[in-house]
Amino acid sequence: MTIMQKKNLALVAHDNRKKDLIEWVRWNEATLGEHSLICTGTTGRLVEQALLSARKSGTSPVEVTKLRSGPLGGDQQIGAMIAEGKIDILIFFWDPLEPMPHDVDVKALLRIAVVYNIPVACNRSTADFLISSPLFKENYRPRREEAGR
Ligand code: PGA
Repeated sequence: MTIMQKKNLALVAHDNRKKDLIEWVRWNEATLGEHSLICTGTTGRLVEQALLSARKSGTSPVEVTKLRSGPLGGDQQIGAMIAEGKIDILIFFWDPLEPMPHDVDVKALLRIAVVYNIPVACNRSTADFLISSPLFKENYRPRREEAGR
C-alpha cells in the first residue's frame, strides 16, 4: 500500500487537548485543505468549524468525515480503517494526565497504528514535524511486514 499525495488523515483529540489540535488545524488550514480528514465525532465538529471560519473565499471546502465520538466507538472505527488501509496518517492528541473511560480503545488505536506502520503524532511538535516533512507531499510506501503475517 502506498500513501498517496492526497492523504487520508485521522484527527482525534481528547477534551483537554482539543484546543491544541484546533490551533494546529487553523495554523495548517491551507495544507490540510489538500487532504481528506477523518475525525472522531466531537473533534470532527470542532475541526469543521475551525476550517470553515479559516476558509478564504474561493477555496473549496475541506472534506471532514465524522465518525462516532471516541468513548462511543470512534477510536475503534479509526483503528478498523487503519487495518483496511483507509487511513494514512494519525494525529492523536491523547490526554496523558486524565484517566479515560475508553482507555483500552486508546491503547488499541495506538497499537494498530504501529502494527500498520503509519505515521503517528501524539503531540503538536510531532504533528509540526510530520506536516512539514517533504514526505508529506509525496507518495510514500510504508514497510508493512508486521501486518502481512
Ligand atoms: P471525540 O473523541 O472527538 O468524540 O471527543 C475523542 C476521543 O475521546 O478519543
